[in-house]
Amino acid sequence: MTTHTTRTTAYDALAVPATALARLRVTDDAGRACVPHTATDGGDPLRCCLRLSAPGERIALVSYAPLRRWAAETGAEPGAYDEQGPVFIHADDCGGPAPSETYPFSRAGALRTLRRYDSAGRIVGGRLLELPETPAEGFDQALAEAFADPAVALVHVRAVEYGCFHFEVRRP
Ligand SMILES: [Zn+2]
Repeated sequence: MTTHTTRTTAYDALAVPATALARLRVTDDAGRACVPHTATDGGDPLRCCLRLSAPGERIALVSYAPLRRWAAETGAEPGAYDEQGPVFIHADDCGGPAPSETYPFSRAGALRTLRRYDSAGRIVGGRLLELPETPAEGFDQALAEAFADPAVALVHVRAVEYGCFHFEVRRP
């Protein structure tokens, strides 16, 4: 007999907020017009609802500046730390992420970087994470380690190979 244990993640993975999505669906953070297309094979990591696209869905690849968006809310001035990069989003409002028992885009063996920022928006460290057999445990542990430093306000999780932004986690 197998026991099934439901668990929740210790930290919340945040999708691109709805207000930012509304703007990105017109003009992205690099000033380019949003050009939707149909996902052919699917499997594109969607940062609006934190799941992979299915074939046939209308999506767009837009440039997103997560630190700039966060700073606009908090009043931080990240200056030169501001960056933008490509993310996939649904071309239309998708209602955001469904509740999940694990972190988005996680599978054992995947490589992630966790980049830490302080409340001023400056980078204050980071680490490489190879996701273990139970990816949520690896994330929980690495995020606990990041927030053990009282200076850390925010963590960006990125894919190592492409360097692209996956999601952010704020100090609980
Ligand atoms: Zn979506």
